[in-house]
Amino acid sequence: DGLAVALVYENGQLSYGLTRGDGQSGEDITVNLRTIPSIPLSLRPVTGLNLNSRIEVRGEVYLPKAAFAKLNQERAANEQPLFANPRNAAAGSLRQLDPKITASRQLKFMAYQLILESDQPETHQAEHQLAQQLGFADNADNRLIVGLDSVLEFWTDFESRRASLPYQIDGLVVGLNRTDWRRKAGIVGKSPRAVIALKWPAEEVTTVVEDIIVNVGRTGNLTPVAVLRPVKVAGTLVSRASLHNQDEIDRLDLRLGDTVVIRKAGDIIPEVVKAILGLRPAKTAPYRLPELCPICQSPTLRVEGEAAIRCSNPTCFSVEARRLEHFVSQAAFDIEGLGPRLLERLLELGLIKNFADLFRLEVADLAALDGFQEKLASKLHRSIQSRRELPLRRWLYALGIKGIGEQSAGWLAEYLAKQPAVEAALQTEPLAEGALSKALAAIPLTDWQELPGLGPVAAQALVEYFNSPVGQELIDDLGAVGVRPLLSLPAAESAAGQSLSGERLVFTGTLATLSRAEAEERARQAGALVSSSLTKQTTHLVAGEAAGSKLGQAQEQQIPVWTEAEFLANLD
Ligand SMILES: [Zn+2]
Repeated sequence: DGLAVALVYENGQLSYGLTRGDGQSGEDITVNLRTIPSIPLSLRPVTGLNLNSRIEVRGEVYLPKAAFAKLNQERAANEQPLFANPRNAAAGSLRQLDPKITASRQLKFMAYQLILESDQPETHQAEHQLAQQLGFADNADNRLIVGLDSVLEFWTDFESRRASLPYQIDGLVVGLNRTDWRRKAGIVGKSPRAVIALKWPAEEVTTVVEDIIVNVGRTGNLTPVAVLRPVKVAGTLVSRASLHNQDEIDRLDLRLGDTVVIRKAGDIIPEVVKAILGLRPAKTAPYRLPELCPICQSPTLRVEGEAAIRCSNPTCFSVEARRLEHFVSQAAFDIEGLGPRLLERLLELGLIKNFADLFRLEVADLAALDGFQEKLASKLHRSIQSRRELPLRRWLYALGIKGIGEQSAGWLAEYLAKQPAVEAALQTEPLAEGALSKALAAIPLTDWQELPGLGPVAAQALVEYFNSPVGQELIDDLGAVGVRPLLSLPAAESAAGQSLSGERLVFTGTLATLSRAEAEERARQAGALVSSSLTKQTTHLVAGEAAGSKLGQAQEQQIPVWTEAEFLANLD
């Protein structure tokens, strides 16, 4: 499964290369073909062959499965659209305007036909041998087989090797061996009659629809997805298949619990072929898409003239995606490797609906994403799971309540840690179901309003959030997946002490015992805020050797100055 190309060599040198779109004329992609290492720029001399003539080498440019996976992984990281399959990726790579991009794609070439001006070999097998001698890669699985029965036997047997090949195929090409017979067979339309493609039927297996879940896409469209009892199809385990829309479900008359026939379209994407009505359990009902959006609970509607049903709330998806971004951000749950693009993919696929679902992701869920390899999936899984315990202030900030920033979350955490009901809720093992959400909901507005530094808007937002069904369910759900806010700082964070808590520092000049970056980092660990310029809020300027204009400014503005030694003394 690649792209057919023709390479023309003159005097033994690669002269030009074309795509073979319609078999006659093609696109000139010579500059890009020259970047593919397995395409020789000059032919190796072969005894008895005159290289001074024109030699055309036909074959396939393809992208190995591993390179395809890696390419899509990089594209996902750069927020570029993914390639659907290796064939599209190979074609896209060859049509690049910049040959450097083509060169970076790890394309390969395999020769399968030679057209010589003179000395055309008498058999196709000899063409393959000659191609190898000239310096081309040849498919090691080529066979000369005598008799059609043996050909069909080989074809049947070879299918079992399909999944383990390093490149994607959908069948075998069978051709006549004798060159004179090939000529005699002639051409019908654009296809030579001497060569046919023997494709395998798509593998079909049966399994059971255990659930139908609904994804909400970026455009607000609702896509139903069948959750299948996991089953192996064409080499991989399949547990989900898109059902596209209500019309498709109606066409299949698909119901929960149905036994279905599934296959992979184009050998890549799992699809439901049909439901086996004879195996349908008793008392089933036709499946209808929900009338309320599963993400934001707004009514869903069917757009006139379209098959899709969508959420009526225009900001539904994006709002949820931004909330998730906030939730995993550095000051909140600090989950490394979960970028905006990946979060959107997970939302679109229905793998997550809320914050807590992140902790329910399995390695297999992540590994099933396009361009995601097992290793990367396990790494991300570990990085999520390592965040089950975190300081209460980060947990509060992560909820994304209106008006609650990093700083106010810190004050709130200090206050909440002293509330007996909250303390009790957080000190049970495991967390008592619903205890935390109840304790938070019970705090009256007047108490929040009395907290220093918290505005009336934030106080109101806290009461509304902690008393809303959405907020309470989310807090309970986080508890259910084992996320535990910690009242005191975990050992790693408290070990550094908070000796500079409340300080706002600015550094200037060169420090003798540590670098500027180290000094700033240690100040932050000790609870100080570090900024680059002096303001009215600055509590101390730390001045090293050769301090610049900031020292003068600080003296003018009567901002206290620390020497390096004083800074270090305060740090301890
Ligand atoms: Zn919605």
